[in-house]
Amino acid sequence: MKKIDGKKVAADLRLELKKKVSELKSKYNAVPGLTVILVGEDAPSKIYVKNKEKSAIEVGINSKIIKYPENLEEKVLLDKIGELNNDKEVSGILVQLPLPKHINKRKVIETIAHEKDVDGFHPMNVGNLSSGHDSSIPCTPLGCSLLLKQTEKNLSGKHAVVIGRSNLNGKPMTQLLLKENCTVTITHSKTKDLKTECLRADIIIAAVGIPKLVKGDWVKKDAIVIDVGINKTESGLVGDVDFDEVSKVAKAITPVPGGVGPMTIACLLSNTVECFKKAQSK
Ligand code: NAP
Repeated sequence: MKKIDGKKVAADLRLELKKKVSELKSKYNAVPGLTVILVGEDAPSKIYVKNKEKSAIEVGINSKIIKYPENLEEKVLLDKIGELNNDKEVSGILVQLPLPKHINKRKVIETIAHEKDVDGFHPMNVGNLSSGHDSSIPCTPLGCSLLLKQTEKNLSGKHAVVIGRSNLNGKPMTQLLLKENCTVTITHSKTKDLKTECLRADIIIAAVGIPKLVKGDWVKKDAIVIDVGINKTESGLVGDVDFDEVSKVAKAITPVPGGVGPMTIACLLSNTVECFKKAQSK
């Protein structure tokens, strides 16, 4: 069994990005800029935003955080996004989710210029991804896809089962697997017999939010298992996959922590660099 080392793959990607940013700086006399907007006091969001800033600075991206109080008026946020859309120094805009309830998330996502949407949530990017066109790709599924390709070069014809159909993970993941010519089954809370579906899979992507949902006897011998789940339990952070059981059957598996998690931020940086490059070539 191979333990897929997301920490190492993410570190390699950051190193590659650092070189790319330095080349772009020489070529254009400018570096990519990432602006992250944080509204309110959500503790995990504060940590994510801090980590994003640290990693962005490490690769040479110009990073800026804009912080607003919980009671921020929606219009102020939308106006700020409009301003950033027109700012040449800003290549990527990310509004940290979740937002306070009085702010319309959809409106916020749709106000970000799709060319600066480093999260890949804008309908234009969602549509382009599902049409097989060039787009910003949501960072976590993009990270999963890179880990998969590191593990198995040719995914063509493999049967992939995606557990979860969120806009953040399951749905974009499905599109990425289709792009690799996998046969994809997407499952969710109403799926009748999840175990049987999983037993058919060469690849399982678990993005559910239920600790250790996927058991050893749900997994075909030599399957590849990517665990997106991050669940806080009394015994610490665990994924959606029972690692101890599944690692005895699978050919390769991502641990939690240290699997998909580190890839998400690295892919955010990669999306920022891509947005910068596209803006320069216009
Ligand atoms: P989400 O929006 O809550 O979606 C969960 C999905 O799982 C839904 O589609 C739901 O089905 C499905 N589901 C729930 N119970 C199920 C069951 N018993 N059997 C099969 N499917 C079931 O969650 P998310 O945002 O995609 O996040 C999923 C997990 O990934 C969470 O643990 C989250 O913390 C983690 N995550 C990790 C990263 C990372 O960087 N590693 C990033 C983002 C999220 P319905 O659609 O029918 O409700």
